Amino acid sequence: GERIIIIGAGQAGLQIAESLRAEKFEGEILLLGEERVAPYQRPPLSKAWLAGETATDKLTLRGPEFFVTKAIDLRLGAHVTEVNLAAREITLADGETLDWTGLAFATGASARRPNLEGADLPGVCVLRGLKDAREISARLAAAKRIVVVGGGFIGLEVAAAARKKGVEALVLEAQDRLMARAVTPKISDFFADLHRARGVDIHFGAQVAALEGSDAVSAVALADGGGFDADLVVFGIGASANDAIAARAGLACDRGVIVDSCARTSAPNVVAAGDCTVFHANGAAIRLESVQNAVEQGKAAASALLGREKPFVATPWFWSDQYDVKLQMAVSGAGVDLQVARPSGENAFSLFNYRGEKLISVESVNRPGEHLLARKLLDAGLSPAPDAAADPTHDLKSLLR
Ligand code: FAD
Repeated sequence: GERIIIIGAGQAGLQIAESLRAEKFEGEILLLGEERVAPYQRPPLSKAWLAGETATDKLTLRGPEFFVTKAIDLRLGAHVTEVNLAAREITLADGETLDWTGLAFATGASARRPNLEGADLPGVCVLRGLKDAREISARLAAAKRIVVVGGGFIGLEVAAAARKKGVEALVLEAQDRLMARAVTPKISDFFADLHRARGVDIHFGAQVAALEGSDAVSAVALADGGGFDADLVVFGIGASANDAIAARAGLACDRGVIVDSCARTSAPNVVAAGDCTVFHANGAAIRLESVQNAVEQGKAAASALLGREKPFVATPWFWSDQYDVKLQMAVSGAGVDLQVARPSGENAFSLFNYRGEKLISVESVNRPGEHLLARKLLDAGLSPAPDAAADPTHDLKSLLR
């Protein structure tokens, strides 16, 4: 009979399994995950969970009965070490081999670790999974001061959670603004002000040279000779795609498993979805690390395994929660040359970003309803006139009718 094996039981892997059943696949589905936890949400790990506002069981994506009723064979603690494309086999760490008629890579990404002296000292952490989050949480409870290296989403969310717990927080960022890869300077400035108002010390242009300490980390040394005391250091310096097994098996990879617009890899009956993938659009290699992308590609991957073409193109969408501020971004292009603010009271606004006359992205701060509407405009390729976007009394919904 038919058997589809999914490597990686995270957001994307679960979506593939779920979509296969939704599309009436009746063969066997094996969902293999090396973590010993059923598929869970990662976003809260740096947000509400770390701040102590959400319980661990609330992170679970689907309860045990789901896997039973959908006949999805979820195997935890199952680490796939080898894939043989010609023989249509995979090998697990314990030596077991399993054969497949269809295969999906949903192996996610790994947090980048610093290659610095002292990086292996206890108290030097990265954040990717529940295990990491538990360690950071335990250390935060005893910490006086945390140094966060990297002023991106995860680093800033960790700093915000630390402040909520009354821990001193310092953010070291190599560039000259926060979240520089993902947001426009106005948003960077807004969040720098927000963090400073909450007592976070932010240093730009900072190059970490080494971690110091004897039994555990006690200080961060900078390249310019300066340094800061710390009893916990969290690096939020990006993630790399887990594509080693795919590459060894002979799949085309380039800092990620290369997929086409339908989540197909370079081999027949083999798909990939989520953080482990890279795809080409508009001449650029794109890696999206977001729940939305994992879900969209997961659906496309399931369809592709069943021989149906369902391109995953959608407007990339991301959010971040820092303190009581929700940031949301939807992006359909780059090269902003006009930015229009749509104000709506203190700490709440949207930025409508244009290239020429075309709306290409929208960034919203504490405006979830307006953001949803803006996403619909972007998805539909509709561009409100900048004057209309700037006028909070102008009803943007009228464009969608
Ligand atoms: P993962 O969820 O990482 O799942 C991959 C799984 O595969 C892992 O469990 C891994 O152990 C397993 N695996 C890997 N190799 C093997 C192997 N050889 N054998 C067996 N199993 C294997 N996204 C947002 O959109 N919004 C947010 O606010 C947001 N916040 C985030 C905060 C944090 C702290 C983190 C870490 C991520 C955040 N993300 C956020 C990103 C989002 O969580 C990821 O994009 C999403 O989890 C990707 O899903 P995935 O299935 O591709 O990868």
